[in-house]
Amino acid sequence: MAKETKKQNNNSNNNNKPAPSHRTSAATNSRRQNSKPQGAPRYEWQDSASELIPSFSAVEGSKSARASSSRKKNTMRTSVDILDTLNTQEPAPRKKQEEARPASKTSKAAKTAKTPNAPQKAKTSGEGSASKRTAPKAPKQTTPAERTEKPARLDKKKPARKPIDPNAKIRVIPLGGLSEVGKNITVIEYGEDMIVVDCGMGFPDEDMPGIDLVIPDITYLENNKDRLRGMFLTHGHEDHIGAIPYALRSINPPIYGTRLTLGIIKNKLTEHVLASTPKLCEVKAGDVIEAGQMSVEFIHVNHSIADACALAIHTPLGTILHTGDFKLDTSPIEGDMMDLTRLGELGHEGVLLLMSESTNAERGGFTPSERRVGESFEYIFNKHKDKRLIIATFSSNVHRVQQIIDTSARHGRKVVVTGRSMTNIMGAAIELGYMTVPSGVLIDISDVKRYRPEELTIVTTGSQGEPMSALYRMAFSDHSQITLGQSDLVVLSASAIPGNEKLVGRVINELTRTGIKVMHESAVAVHVSGHACGEELKLMQALTKPRYFMPIHGEYRHLMAHRDIALYMGMDGKNIFVSDIGRVLEIDPKGARFTQEEIPAGRVLVDGYGVGDVGNIVLRDRLHLAQDGLIVVVATISENGGGLLSGPDIVSRGFVYVREAESLMDETRMIAAAAISEGLKGKGGYIDRMALKKRIKDDVTKFLYGKTGRKPMILPVIMDV
Ligand SMILES: [Zn+2]
Ligand SMILES: [Zn+2]
Repeated sequence: MAKETKKQNNNSNNNNKPAPSHRTSAATNSRRQNSKPQGAPRYEWQDSASELIPSFSAVEGSKSARASSSRKKNTMRTSVDILDTLNTQEPAPRKKQEEARPASKTSKAAKTAKTPNAPQKAKTSGEGSASKRTAPKAPKQTTPAERTEKPARLDKKKPARKPIDPNAKIRVIPLGGLSEVGKNITVIEYGEDMIVVDCGMGFPDEDMPGIDLVIPDITYLENNKDRLRGMFLTHGHEDHIGAIPYALRSINPPIYGTRLTLGIIKNKLTEHVLASTPKLCEVKAGDVIEAGQMSVEFIHVNHSIADACALAIHTPLGTILHTGDFKLDTSPIEGDMMDLTRLGELGHEGVLLLMSESTNAERGGFTPSERRVGESFEYIFNKHKDKRLIIATFSSNVHRVQQIIDTSARHGRKVVVTGRSMTNIMGAAIELGYMTVPSGVLIDISDVKRYRPEELTIVTTGSQGEPMSALYRMAFSDHSQITLGQSDLVVLSASAIPGNEKLVGRVINELTRTGIKVMHESAVAVHVSGHACGEELKLMQALTKPRYFMPIHGEYRHLMAHRDIALYMGMDGKNIFVSDIGRVLEIDPKGARFTQEEIPAGRVLVDGYGVGDVGNIVLRDRLHLAQDGLIVVVATISENGGGLLSGPDIVSRGFVYVREAESLMDETRMIAAAAISEGLKGKGGYIDRMALKKRIKDDVTKFLYGKTGRKPMILPVIMDV
């Protein structure tokens, strides 16, 4: 495998030789002018998708929505039909293909040039050593000006054709998603160009009271805005797109994603006030987008959400394959199996670096097909004809919901949808044609009472036991429209995400206590994972035959398990790079290595409307308050050295129940009073407030710890008159 990669590099090196004659300098200029993908106005949000946020009524009127969306699909397809055809042909040998490129393309590209800026710009920041490197000289950058309105798909087979700047390096910098679950985001640089893959959010840990969600620190992107050629999204899960609304506050690169992914983002963005219009650019599997000297190819993969892609990032030094989240489903509910053919081709062409997800690296075998769950549903529906079925699953698992709808339709049941994200995503999915609902099957939740229990299936959110979710509210008899009883069967068609087990357990307990049968990871497979298990990860290694490997997406143990898989597949340990967030992997023709550089990376906490204003100090206080409570000592002293005028008063919150601890409070008051008079003694008119407060704090803390073994937060308040 190493041999092949080497060959490819040699090929690219040849590009440094005098360019073929048709590469005129005019072409060069237009190529360079085009090389910022900033434009892409065809795809701009306002232009392409006027029908945004599908409401629940859109779900109801699914038929017409589908018709319009398929019309839309058709019009979108036509413009690229020819290119599609070209694309499916056998790849011509490299050289030939290059020569065969019509010269007219050059002038077309020149005409469509949108951004007059050359790719290299004044450096606004000192971040990153790459910015210090000299930009490639203009005449060397000769590449046929193939960037026209829709040229992308033609480029697929010529990734390594660009000339190599001897000084340019690839830098791979994960800003999230390593040694943690969620907030996946990776920066990839080649020379002066930078792209970012995904921009996800994470959920707060137990030690983050009050925090709603966690987003990555994107300081590095902010500092390198002018080098950022685009944000490329693998799929529409929150851990890959959830931080985008926040990132858009400070950066605004073109965002490339497939239809469903962008549909979900548009939906999300309506809940946020945005500084500028996001540049959402729709792509589909097979498309190649130019990003400065890099190009990014979208490759179809299977996952627990439709329209997921791996990304092949072509650089002059070689190709980086970022798998995103994937599994191999040989019998997917809709669409094709993962594009193994293309992955194999890439393997033959030579993959320089494989970045592959590690979520299920500790599990052997293959992840079963989504179809398996459909078979289970069929079994459950047959077996429980007398029950109302309540099925909870991830709202984004469009295929799962589709199977519930199909099975319900077959069994003559009506389907009710409840939960905000479920109605939102279903609306988007139906609107965009990712879900089809037979007419008359979906009914409004207000009509539930018109049907007998056994005529209904209820699809709901809450498979993770989230306290505000529809299932949780049903379980705790807090749902306004649905009351559960003995005639119900609840199916949890999901597995608990690590950390959510307790919440899920609470819901199951509550349901079971009230005599409701719950099926959850039972004998019948009501859930399959969306992530590749061991054998699939091996398959990825075998197909792509990377020279270097970096396991991504997962806790440290997952990354290490994935490393073991690569070793088992015959990779040399020194070519495997288990990285961490903020760490830089540098690749050049001489090899690959971690640098000593530390890129700012970490977590930014979101609480309500506040982003990043809750830091470690606030968190520490919150934890302190949560663990031991608060004592406030209020005293009034004379400004002129007259000593204590009134108080001190002791206010306690969350420490002890004051009425049952009156003597403790009295003693505390005395200790505080003593501390104050000691602190004021012999000071004349001068009062050192800081010292006084510290003294009160220390004395009271010591006293209370001695008495109770607890250390509440002590907050002295000194007022003077
Ligand atoms: Zn995912
Ligand atoms: Zn993920």
